Amino acid sequence: MMTVVNFVCSPEEAKDDSFLEKRIREELSLSSSNFIDFRWRKRSIDARQKNIKINASFEVGIDEALAPRYTSENFKTLQAHAPVVHIVGAGPAGLFAALQAIALGIRPIVFERGKDVRARRRANH
Ligand SMILES: Cc1cc2nc3c(=O)[nH]c(=O)nc-3n(C[C@H](O)[C@H](O)[C@H](O)COP(=O)(O)OP(=O)(O)OC[C@H]3O[C@@H](n4cnc5c(N)ncnc54)[C@H](O)[C@@H]3O)c2cc1C
Repeated sequence: MMTVVNFVCSPEEAKDDSFLEKRIREELSLSSSNFIDFRWRKRSIDARQKNIKINASFEVGIDEALAPRYTSENFKTLQAHAPVVHIVGAGPAGLFAALQAIALGIRPIVFERGKDVRARRRANH
């Protein structure tokens, strides 16, 4: 069975796999006799307060391994004549769109405008 578990933790806890496994087991009321396989589904940083928090979301396989998500088999070798898609912006959405395009055999060309001249001049000082 596959399920999703969400919780909030500290940045240190988010790096500690044994903490994460213990916390996931607690959230799902699982005993140590259950096998679990887990991986990050979504991670965001809440840095609005002095105490920085991680909003953690996990995919969890209970008594079964999770199916692989992205492996090299998902990505075909793109041919020079493959159709092209133009993507505007190299933020998270643009980069994910590019990844999806590659998985579908479409060549992504990503345009990123960067900062304007005034902001770049300030960043260099
Ligand atoms: C001040 C601030 C603080 C934030 N803090 C957090 C946080 O702590 N944690 C968190 O998870 N999220 C945070 N967010 C939200 C997060 O930044 C956004 O959810 C995320 O960046 C959205 O991704 P996106 O790809 O949709 O857009 P964006 O990241 O905005 O990417 C769009 C890209 O497109 C480019 N672009 C736009 N127009 C053009 C054009 N005409 N030609 C070429 N390129 C173009 C831009 O330069 C930009 O790089 C914050 C956002 C802001 C504004």
